[in-house]
Amino acid sequence: MIVILHANTDTESEAYRETLAHLEKLPGVQIRQHHIQGSEQKLTEIYLLGDTHKVDQETIESLEAVDRVVRVSQEYRVLGRHQDEHRASGFTYNGVTFAQNNLNIMAGLCAVDTPEHVEIMMQTLQGFGQVCTRMGAYKPRTNPYSFQGHGRKCLPYVFELAGKYGIKVIAMEITHERHIDDIRECLEKTGQPTGVMLQIGTRNTQNFELLKAIGRQQEFPALLKRGYGVTLNESLNAAEYLASEGNTRVIFCLRGMKSSFGNPHRNMVDFAQVPVIKRLTRMPVCVDPSHSVGSREKSPDHILDVIHASAQGVVAGANLVLVDFHPEPSKALVDGPQALQMDELGAFLEDMEICKETYNKRVQLWAKELVREQTLDPARPERV
Ligand code: PEP
Ligand code: MN
Repeated sequence: MIVILHANTDTESEAYRETLAHLEKLPGVQIRQHHIQGSEQKLTEIYLLGDTHKVDQETIESLEAVDRVVRVSQEYRVLGRHQDEHRASGFTYNGVTFAQNNLNIMAGLCAVDTPEHVEIMMQTLQGFGQVCTRMGAYKPRTNPYSFQGHGRKCLPYVFELAGKYGIKVIAMEITHERHIDDIRECLEKTGQPTGVMLQIGTRNTQNFELLKAIGRQQEFPALLKRGYGVTLNESLNAAEYLASEGNTRVIFCLRGMKSSFGNPHRNMVDFAQVPVIKRLTRMPVCVDPSHSVGSREKSPDHILDVIHASAQGVVAGANLVLVDFHPEPSKALVDGPQALQMDELGAFLEDMEICKETYNKRVQLWAKELVREQTLDPARPERV
C-alpha cells in the first residue's frame, strides 16, 4: 500500500506528524518513506509494508496531509504501474528529462581509451545537438587479461571534456560501490561540469549489494541492464532493489539475451519486450542495440543490423538508445567491431527521429481506433 501525500507537504508540519503517528500505530505494518524532489515539486510517498489487509484505506485518506492511497500488488511496489496513471513516469536529471513518453540517445564510447577519442566523440555529438553520451571507465571483462578500463584515472578529462562540449549526462558503468565515490569526488574537483548516470551491467544485474549501494544514494540516477540469463521478472526485481533503497530514478535497459539461438547476433535481441516493461512499470525503457547485435553486419538494404535493431526498439516505444560509436573502431580497446562510426552519426540520429515519429503515429492510429469502436458501441469494453 502506498500513501501519497499532497505535493510539497512540509515534513515539519502538524498534518505530516499526524499522518506519520497514525501510520506508525498500525499493527504488523512497517513504514518506509520516499521523498522525491521533482523539478517543480517535492513528493512524499509512504510505503506500508507487511500485513496491510486490515488497514482501513478510507481513514488514511481522510487525514489532512494525504492525497490518496494506492493498493499495490506485491511485484515492483515502488516502480510498478499498479493501474495508477497519476504517478509520474521518469525524471529530470541535470536538465535532461527521461520519461516513458520521450526519446533520448546516448551514443558514445564503449570504453574510454584516449582523451583524443573522447574529445572527437563529444565534439561530434555537440555538432548534432546531443547532450548525452556513454563512456565506459570501469569495464567488466570476461578475460582477466583483457583491458579493464582506465578507471578513475580517466574521469578528470572525461568530465572536463563533457563540460567543454555541453554534455549533460554520461552513462557510466560501475562495478563496485567505491566507484560512486570516485565519480562524486572527481565531479566535485572538476566543478560539476556534467552529470553521470550509473550503469549497472548485465553481469551485475543481480549483484544485490551493488544494487543496494546505488539505491542508497540519490545523487545519481541509474541505468540498469537486464540480466542476460535471468527472467524479465528477476531483472525488474533488480530494479526494484534500487527503488526500495530510495533511488527511484531508474531506467531499465534491454540488451539481448545470451543464447546460441540468437546467432549470428551476439545476443538474442529482446526489444519486443519494450512495451511489456512500460505496461508493468513506470520506468523509461532503454535499448542497447550494440551489445545485442555485436557486429557491423548489414543486410541487402545497406542498413546495419545494429541500426535495424535500434529502429525496432524505438518503433516499439523505447525511450533511450544506448549505442557504441568510435572515431577509429580498429583502435578501440573494447568492442570495436560493433561500433558505429562518426560519419554515421547524422544518419543514425535522423533514422531514430523517423522511428520516433512512426511510433507516435502508431499510438495516434490505435487511439483513433479505440474511439471509433467506443462510438459504435459505448458499452463495449476495450478489447483484451
Ligand atoms: C556496456 O554497455 O558497456 C556493457 C558492458 O554492456 P552489458 O552489461 O549489456 O554487456
Ligand atoms: Mn561493450
